[in-house]
Formats: sequence, structure tokens, C-alpha cells
Amino acid sequence: MKIAFFSSQPYMQHPFDEHNRDYGFDITWFDARLEAHTAALCRGFDAVCVFVNDKLDADVINTLASAGVGIIALRCAGYNNVDLEAASAAGIQVVRVPAYSPEAVAEHTVGLMLTLNRHIHKAYQRTRDANFSLNGLVGFNMHGKTAGIIGTGKIGMATLRILQGLGMTLLVHDPVENPEALPLGARYVPLEQLFREADVISLHCPLLPENYHLLRHDSFEQMKDGVMIINTSRGGLLHAQDAIAAINSGKIGALGLDVYEEEENLFFSDKSCEIIHDDTFHLLSTYPNVLLTGHQAFLTHEALAAIAHITLDNLQRLSRNEPCDNQIN
Ligand code: NAD
Repeated sequence: MKIAFFSSQPYMQHPFDEHNRDYGFDITWFDARLEAHTAALCRGFDAVCVFVNDKLDADVINTLASAGVGIIALRCAGYNNVDLEAASAAGIQVVRVPAYSPEAVAEHTVGLMLTLNRHIHKAYQRTRDANFSLNGLVGFNMHGKTAGIIGTGKIGMATLRILQGLGMTLLVHDPVENPEALPLGARYVPLEQLFREADVISLHCPLLPENYHLLRHDSFEQMKDGVMIINTSRGGLLHAQDAIAAINSGKIGALGLDVYEEEENLFFSDKSCEIIHDDTFHLLSTYPNVLLTGHQAFLTHEALAAIAHITLDNLQRLSRNEPCDNQIN
């Protein structure tokens, strides 16, 4: 099977090469994202392997189908960037990696919380400049505070387990209750109550049409003054300009983002010598109480190994016409 691997990065290529020794697929690596003007590269391939910011809309999918591609293998959990209906109509099978290491994302999430709370990013810069002043670095005890976790799937649960260890009160919201949350002491509450009572709010639900901009002006208005918000899920869940207004008013006291709605033209490449034409992103990056990471919450050795293994296994199953639980269309 010939696989065109898009949005290739060295940290991803290495574990795939290692695991592919057991599978023997013919992989071609493309640095480029898969989108309308790169889709023609797929001619002669049986499958494409893509990541979060590849854009598989109906046009791209039709180009893939006419190029002979029969499988789209997502090497991530979320699939909001793929038009599943178009893929089904074109007879293309779509597989994903539903879980690779929820702990990796949960640990990064809590890392953002603790860094923001104790101003470690500011302290790092100060001490390198021999500035040992503590002014402006006062944090709060996580112990005894209330966390509001939106989405109690695999990553939400892994986050809850860590926050329970910190001694936080746990409020959760999810249309589907997870019985594993209750023994941790978590309480399912309506979203409005979670907004009202939580000191720290963290998003762990997928981006769906019905929750686009779940966090926006009117939701921020319901929250405690100085609330901390963390988004390691998908950028479109949070209205960035409304968040800026809420930071300016003091409503949001700290904001940690690993994802950003307009990230597709920014993240996963070095833009340090370029002008970034995104004023919202620029503004966010100037605040002392905003911490941005470039969609790296998943980035551990364990997660990368699991992604490679599960993706190649998905492809092998489909190539052998075997049932594959990770097929999503
Ligand atoms: P999951 O499917 O195990 O859990 C998602 C949960 O969200 C489910 O319980 C679902 O019922 C719930 N949910 C759906 N809509 C909701 C809503 N409107 N409000 C509250 N809950 C809702 O998924 P997961 O593995 O825990 O991953 C969660 C998300 O994390 C993914 O969809 C993806 O967007 C994101 N993610 C980010 C990274 C990263 O590196 N930053 C890595 C992996 C996944």
C-alpha cells in the first residue's frame, strides 16, 4: 500500500519509520499540508495520512477520489477538519486514532494551569535576567479551589484524576455522564452552574457545530471575576476576541491556550522571522496572563508511539478488508 503522509514533521516521522518496520508500507513524506492546492500530489497513492490542520473539504476529497485514494487515515482523535459525508459519498474510508495518550494532554493541561497560576513563565524570564523581585508573582493554592471540566471523556477524566490529587472540588459538565467521574468526587452540573462556581475552567469536549464558540462574551459574563480558562481541545470552542475583552475587563484572570481557531496557518512551523498577519493572535501573545503553546499537548514519546502504531494498524486492517473499530464513516 502506498501512503502519502502530509504535514510531516521529524518528531512524527521517526516513530512512524520505527513502527513501519513491522508493516512494510510504502510511505512518502510531504511537509506540505493537504489542502486544495496540494491534493494533486496524491495521484497514485492508495491512502493519505493527515493531521489536525490538513483541510479535507468536499473539493479535496473529490480530488483524492479521482486520484485513486481509498483511505484517509487521521493520525489524531478530532475529525472536524474532514467532510465525512463527502468522503462516504466518494467511497473513501476514514479512520482515526480515538485515543493515544489522554494523560499526555491532561498533563499539559495541568502544566498550563500551574504555570499560569504561579507565573512560572514570568519567573523564568526574570531570574535569567537576575531579577529576583517577587512582585506580581503571587498565585493561589489550587487545593480547595473549584475546577470546572467541560467534557468527561478520556482526556477530561485524566485531567480530573490529576486535579483530584491537587485537592480541588470537581464540577463537570457533559451531555453523556461518565460513571467513572463520580468515584473521584466529581459532580455533574448544568453549564451555567459550572460557569458560576468554577475558579478554573478547562475544555475537553470535541468541536461540534452545536458547541462552536461555547466560550464567548455571554458565557464569560456568567463566570467568576478572575477565572482561569484553559483550552487544549479545539480553537473554535473559544471566541478569541471576546476572550481579549474579558481579559481587559479582568473577568478572565488567566488564559492558557494550546489551540487557536486560526491556528492552521500558524502552528507546526517556524514563523519567527515572518510578519504574522493575525492581530488577535499578536494581542493574545502580549498579555502576561496568557500562555500560548502551539498544539503540543499530545507531544510525548508515548503518545507519538501509540499514534504511529494505531494508525498503521488501522491502515493494515482496511487494506485487508478486516473490520476496524476506528473507522468513522
Ligand atoms: P472523548 O471522545 O473521549 O471525550 C469527549 C467528551 O466530550 C465526551 O464525553 C462527549 O460526550 C463530551 N462532549 C461532547 N459535546 C460536549 C459538550 N457540548 N459539552 C460538554 N461535553 C461534551 O475525547 P477525548 O479523547 O477526551 O478528547 C477531547 C478533545 O481533545 C478532542 O475532541 C480533541 O479536540 C482534543 N485533543 C487535543 C489534543 C491536543 O494535542 N491539544 C490532543 C488530543 C485531543
